[in-house]
Amino acid sequence: MNRIQQPWAEDIAVALAQTAGFGFESLDFLCGTDPVYAGLHRFEDMTFGRSYRSSAHCSHRHQSSDARTTIVLPTPQHWTVVVHELGHALDERQGWRWTLPPVSEYAKVDRQEAFAEAFLTWVLGDGQPDSWAARYDVLARWEPDAGRIFAGLV
Ligand SMILES: [Zn+2]
Repeated sequence: MNRIQQPWAEDIAVALAQTAGFGFESLDFLCGTDPVYAGLHRFEDMTFGRSYRSSAHCSHRHQSSDARTTIVLPTPQHWTVVVHELGHALDERQGWRWTLPPVSEYAKVDRQEAFAEAFLTWVLGDGQPDSWAARYDVLARWEPDAGRIFAGLV
């Protein structure tokens, strides 16, 4: 049963459509609430002074009280943010074994953010304007196999 309501539903639907074939439909989503209050996990401190209580993130299996990978969206987010979080879920599924180039400033935070940003960049493709096209160029140049990596083919 789909319990995701507006204003989250549309952007989640677009993100899932943009990543069709990855099986992300089976992931859990927690929307519109504080995940610590909801009992999903207990960690709060995030980079740049943010809190996991109020910021979009992926709660991995080993972090979630129900051992289910969960995309947490305390506030509504653009579908590209949802795709970024789906990238973290994909990284987990693949065992955090790929190191991809940092395609954006935010991707320089750590290996995991680099993977999620690279996934979003790959999903958006090379037909994007300005900075996104540049990010795609970086990804394609540094890791020509990115598409096969994301698809689990290598
Ligand atoms: Zn992230």
